[in-house]
Amino acid sequence: MTSRTRLIAVITAASLLSPVLSIVPANANEKVIDMCANKSTAKVRAISKGACKYSEWSLGASQIKPGKQYPTAMHSKMANRWYAVRVAAASAGYTLIMTSGFRRLVDQQYLYKQAIKKYGSAKKAAEFVLPPKFSMHPRGLAIDINRNKGLKSAAKWVELNGWKWGLCRRYDNEFWHFEPLVGPGKKCPPREPNALSAIPDGYWDK
Ligand SMILES: [Zn+2]
Repeated sequence: MTSRTRLIAVITAASLLSPVLSIVPANANEKVIDMCANKSTAKVRAISKGACKYSEWSLGASQIKPGKQYPTAMHSKMANRWYAVRVAAASAGYTLIMTSGFRRLVDQQYLYKQAIKKYGSAKKAAEFVLPPKFSMHPRGLAIDINRNKGLKSAAKWVELNGWKWGLCRRYDNEFWHFEPLVGPGKKCPPREPNALSAIPDGYWDK
């Protein structure tokens, strides 16, 4: 094997492993303004000017943070990350089902109350269901994938690969819960033990 064919073999192997092929724009000095995922292949490319094409989903270039106002639906770039990861998972042989996404504040309050009944205390309940103002579901920035669907291995696939589209598993005790914690192609932060870490210190003393 010549060095050139070896190089081609390495590149081919790398492209099979990762659909994120071109995360550096043509001119490395230009600031990345968006990451675009192909709607057919889920391959991601960075852009430093203009906008994603109609055949692509705009994923955003960095972590998606909550806005000042509560939305009435999932954040559009979060929805796009979900569409892209679902396409990629399907081509890897995994079926993803969103079992919960955007929740109204009243929905979150209902689930929190139910959890308090189930677990016997607000603090224990909050390990699994956050009080409305701390949850990312009413912010349109959280999705639950394949919870109670018997498809845990597919959620595991997202845990291992979701970072390519900017989705991270956040908690040790919830294999199904994902948030847009990084820009596409960036490494996810370390996991937190449970949702209690989303609640500020002193909250339970009130
Ligand atoms: Zn969740």
